[in-house]
Amino acid sequence: MAASELTPEKCAAFDCIERNAEAIALVGDSIFYFGELGNQEYESAALMSGLLEREGFTVERGMSGFPTSFLATYGAGKPVIALHTEFDGNPDNSQKPGVPEPSAIVDGAPGHCEGHNVNAAVMTGAAIAIRRVMEERKLPGTLKVLGAPAEEQVLSRPYFVRDGYFDDVDIALHPHIGADLRVGYGLLQSALISATFTFHGESAHAGTAPWNARDALDAVMLMDAGLNQYREHLRPTTRLHRVIVEGGHQPNVIPKRAKIWWYFRDPGAEGAEKLFEHAKRVAQGAAMMTNTEWEHMVLSAVWPTRGNQTVAEVVRGNIENVGMPRWSNEENDLAVALQEKAGAGVSGLRHDLPPFEGPAEQRASANDGGDVSWKVPMVKFYYPGNVPNIGFHHWAAGVALATSIAHKGAVAGAKVLAASALDFLMNPQLVAEAWTTFRQELGGVEYHPLLPLGQDPPADLNRDLMEAFRPAMREHYIKDKPEFV
Ligand SMILES: [Zn+2]
Repeated sequence: MAASELTPEKCAAFDCIERNAEAIALVGDSIFYFGELGNQEYESAALMSGLLEREGFTVERGMSGFPTSFLATYGAGKPVIALHTEFDGNPDNSQKPGVPEPSAIVDGAPGHCEGHNVNAAVMTGAAIAIRRVMEERKLPGTLKVLGAPAEEQVLSRPYFVRDGYFDDVDIALHPHIGADLRVGYGLLQSALISATFTFHGESAHAGTAPWNARDALDAVMLMDAGLNQYREHLRPTTRLHRVIVEGGHQPNVIPKRAKIWWYFRDPGAEGAEKLFEHAKRVAQGAAMMTNTEWEHMVLSAVWPTRGNQTVAEVVRGNIENVGMPRWSNEENDLAVALQEKAGAGVSGLRHDLPPFEGPAEQRASANDGGDVSWKVPMVKFYYPGNVPNIGFHHWAAGVALATSIAHKGAVAGAKVLAASALDFLMNPQLVAEAWTTFRQELGGVEYHPLLPLGQDPPADLNRDLMEAFRPAMREHYIKDKPEFV
């Protein structure tokens, strides 16, 4: 396939990435120690967008009401190639890198346990390399680099799509950490609707006058019971899960306000909407039973991530050029020790490329990049950096993310990303082909945002939690600043 040819432009991009391997590693490590939660990624966004600005990108910040979002643009005209990724962490997942046992940097603090810090390094490194090649070789076209906050709450990209940030985009590429280099196409992930339900009642002294109360927490518990009862009638591919974010303050004051936050997942957007409609009826029932009032708020709603076949084939061609990193014995030993300690399959690191996935298996996970993949031809591809068999959102998934395993993986990921963007920048017929297969794949499905009209994002999300831990976390920030040469 012509697209996987190792052209002089790709070689120049690879040279740039290898020359800057240390800077790329430092971007990822810096963001690892920032350990910022969704919508609070101020340090991480400033680092990435500042580096891109210094490279000559024009930077817009705070798109769609997300304070930590950014769009860095270089070049002009067609084609327009967009790189996008996330850079947020998770609560209570602080973990010392390179230590294969649970060991927090700061007890109870947020931290990275899905490698979004490495995604940031891959995107920044690739963007700088592509930009240098575009300038040196006077390539036409536009490179857009989107920093997408709060992926863990599947938040920002549906808003970007709704607000037109992908209207002029021809091809979109999304790098995500995994345990090897792989790409597939078809339906890859699930649709998800994230919504809170708040119940309002009346408080009273729980010891002396409980008969005067209307208990909002009762309503939350009945809503939970109602949806749990409904699980029997759901297909095994449907998921719903929740946390109670407000449940009162102390037992002798009957809660006048209580709030439950749900994620509704289904393989299709329609199924997620149907489940959400049912949840609203359950909330209504819970409110009636408890004589309370209720309201709901949609935080986000995403379509299932899909991969375009043409883009996937181009990315696969580049995966074959780049190949897996060569791991050292020490790196493999760390992986084995971690797998043993975490009770995962003990296989060490992967050395070989997996076969081309082709039509991939649809998973129950979701990503807020889903909407992008229904708007323009896109793939989400995986590069190594995590240890095989180690699940995300677990202390063990934080161990490799600021070690040489992640550094080598980031170089491989940045090369695949840069080479694939260059393929589309330099071959207008490939862009046209991707749009042809994309239209066939959609099969007449009309994309519309699942977000309610006029919905604003929760910009304050995670602020209190982040502010509580940031002073202690700041002590561990890396002092060196990445310099790209
Ligand atoms: Zn992720």
